[in-house]
Amino acid sequence: MKTMKIQLAFSSFIFLLFSPFFAAFSSAQDFDFFYFVQQWPGSYCDTRKSCCYPTTGKPEADFGIHGLWPNYKSGAYPSNCDPDSPYQSSTINDLIESLQREWPTLSCPSSDGNPFWEHEWEKHGTCSESVLDQHAYFKATLDLKNKINLLQILNDAGIKPDGGYYSVSSIKDAINKATGFTPWIECNVDEARNRQLYQVYMCVDTSATNLIECPVFPRGKCSDQIEFPPF
Ligand code: 5GP
Ligand code: 5GP
Repeated sequence: MKTMKIQLAFSSFIFLLFSPFFAAFSSAQDFDFFYFVQQWPGSYCDTRKSCCYPTTGKPEADFGIHGLWPNYKSGAYPSNCDPDSPYQSSTINDLIESLQREWPTLSCPSSDGNPFWEHEWEKHGTCSESVLDQHAYFKATLDLKNKINLLQILNDAGIKPDGGYYSVSSIKDAINKATGFTPWIECNVDEARNRQLYQVYMCVDTSATNLIECPVFPRGKCSDQIEFPPF
């Protein structure tokens, strides 16, 4: 009996001694970095699927946020991590106006944006809850958008949404020169099957504040020259 007690006390001691290590280890396992993904509305809307403007009106001709996605260095990613943490728009009342402007929804049927933000929170945001609660997640994403003015950066390099064709390397170079980091460019195709600039991925550290070089790039390919369609 006595030995059992001693054993129990000893194992509790060992556990307590190492628990900070376990905690650090398990949170380090959560995810390794974020993809901060922005979409060009012109390329979302000119596809075969087309788009629907938000109930609040046509968004500005600017890149919009798609999401902030926790990712692993392996290229894999966690999703839908916490069914007990549903999206609650009441926790982000102070951000709704900015979300409508910077994170507009373009899918059909038209909505006020809440279904899009809900999807992004539940699929991706719940996987970085160890560092960002719901309010912090949306705020950090909006702050990233305000820090990186993609349209301005491209415009300054003579790359404009004028329906012209631009090389993917010139787009990447312009963003790299302005931010110091290499983006990933995702293409899609318009109704005539032309490849076009659809989404720009930047990598961000686990605090969701600093850009980093991407530990891994998503898969997929554009052609050398891609269209930058108007919106
Ligand atoms: P698609 O298959 O259209 O590229 O992506 C569909 C969805 O899967 C994305 O909108 C996003 O939610 C998720 N997804 C695709 N690729 C990645 C990735 O590399 N990392 C993460 N975290 N999510 C991704
Ligand atoms: P993901 O591709 O991140 O998993 O999520 C995309 C989901 O959000 C889809 O179900 C899509 O219908 C919805 N969604 C709503 N608005 C938008 C939008 O503006 N762009 C994209 N890519 N998806 C949107």
